[in-house]
Parts: sequence; structure tokens; C-alpha cells
Amino acid sequence: MGTLEIVFSGGNPLLRDDIDEILAYASKFFVTTIYDNGSLAAEKIEALRHADFVAISLDSLNPEKNDYLKGVKGAWQKAMESIQTLKENGILVSVSPTISQYNLDEILGLTKYFVERDIPVWYCLYSYDPPESTARSFGIGMKYDDYTITDKGRIVKLCYDIMEMRHKYNNILITTDALSALVNLYSTGKRTWKCRALQSFMVINHRGEVSGCHLHESVGSIYDLPHIWNSSKLNDLRRKYRECNRCTYLCYIFYSLHGNIIGNFQIIKEHWKNAKLLIPARRSPKGHSSTSRPKNFK
Ligand code: SF4
Repeated sequence: MGTLEIVFSGGNPLLRDDIDEILAYASKFFVTTIYDNGSLAAEKIEALRHADFVAISLDSLNPEKNDYLKGVKGAWQKAMESIQTLKENGILVSVSPTISQYNLDEILGLTKYFVERDIPVWYCLYSYDPPESTARSFGIGMKYDDYTITDKGRIVKLCYDIMEMRHKYNNILITTDALSALVNLYSTGKRTWKCRALQSFMVINHRGEVSGCHLHESVGSIYDLPHIWNSSKLNDLRRKYRECNRCTYLCYIFYSLHGNIIGNFQIIKEHWKNAKLLIPARRSPKGHSSTSRPKNFK
């Protein structure tokens, strides 16, 4: 089916006892990314050696604010220690803050802090599942007033500031198109993209059920997928999803923008310098990257 990348997200996929086996198998065929909030990564180093990218979610450089956002005391400390440990072990670790109203003013500083220490930054955008989504594959986000982005001018400015910052730093892993889409969304309310759920991306839940995104119900199991991929039922759903505007999850926006040949070319054009991030991990046996010991960033 031409799939290039598989992303393990959660919840926390590292809670699985068999994550080592899953990552080892997946990484034979796909660029493999896994998310952790920093609570388990340091204990699962051997499993994570199989992944191409490990993204640690960290929302603030301020320990109290981060712990408040995560709802767990000590989360900041654990996440920072995990980032350090992964880097020391030659694992390609990145930091993934979720941009919300609560940390809007900190995103630039956090980005600068990590990219200057040679740790790539990739963003999530606070979004929540609409309450009417009953027949969904699984739930992710709930509406919470503290996080809902109300200051649209500030997020537009943040997008422009990140665009500017990307001239100086290579490893800010977002594209101009994605940032421009957010600028348009927050300044005019209009979407400059059509959703490409079930075309450029799909989700598979913990039961192996496939859906276009987590907000829609399953179309079948992973075993059915090769047989139904070109069916009229899925083509009808693709047309329906192209007109859908129910969510603003940044990963879905990103894959919608960059899931075709032109979009792929755009990523290559903007991020060819970052290819070196992936090449050492692929060239050496997994876990024996030649990455040198990082500067201590505590
Ligand atoms: S916009 Fe796309 S990703 Fe979001 S709910 Fe609709 S189909 Fe799903």
C-alpha cells in the first residue's frame, strides 16, 4: 500500500510488555516513530533502539507548569532525564510540546532551548474531540478551557516567529505550509487544506481496527485493509472526509498537506538538511549510532 511511516502513540505505547518486538518488526519496513511523555523511555532503552525517532512530550521549561499540564508531579524531571538518557545512548530523541493557550508564550523559548542543544522539536497543537463524536475509534482530547487557544493573534504571531526561527535552526521539524495553514486558520477561520484521512494517513487502534482518523468509526481490521483499500466504500468515505472540518489535530493537518507527491517534495525541499538525522541511525546497526555524547542540557 506504499506506507512509509508508522507512528506509535497513546496513551503510552511503552506500557506494552511487547513493545520491543513491535518496534523491532515495524522498523524493518517503515520509518518508525514513538511517543512517550518521558515517564518510561529511560527504562525501555533497548526497545527504543529499534525506533527511528522517539518524541518526548514536554510542554514547558517551567517544572511546575509542565507538571500541571501533564497532571503528574515530577513529570518534568522525568522527561528531562529521559531526553538526556536517550541522547547519551545515541537514540534520535526529539521534544514535542503541545501548543495551547497555557504555554503559547513559552513555545519559542522552549524551541530555542532544545534546538540549540541539537534536539529537534516537533509540535502538537491542542485540540479536542467534538462532543458529538460518538462512533469514534478512540478518544484523545477533552475540552479544557485553560488550554483552548483563544488568543488568535498570539498564535498567528507565534507561527510567523517559528517561520523566522527556521531560517536559523535546521531541526525545527515543521514546514512552512503547515505553519501557513495555521496562520490562515487562526486569522481567517478558513482551512487551506482538504483532509486526506484514509488517503495520506489512517489510524489503527489497540484492537487492530482501522479508521481514517480516531474521530471516525472503523472501516475494518488491518487484515481486511488490503482487500478494501480500493473499494467504493472507502472512496466514498475519502470524499466525505475531504469536506470534514471537525478537528485541528496538527498531525492530521500535516499529513493532509504533505501526503501527496508535491507535499512530499515540499518536505524534502525544506528538510533535506535534516536527512542526516535519519541517515546515521539507518546506516549503523540500530542502537549503535555514531552520535557523539551530547552537551549536558540540564
Ligand atoms: S478533519 Fe479529518 S482528521 Fe479531523 S475529524 Fe475530520 S476526517 Fe478526521
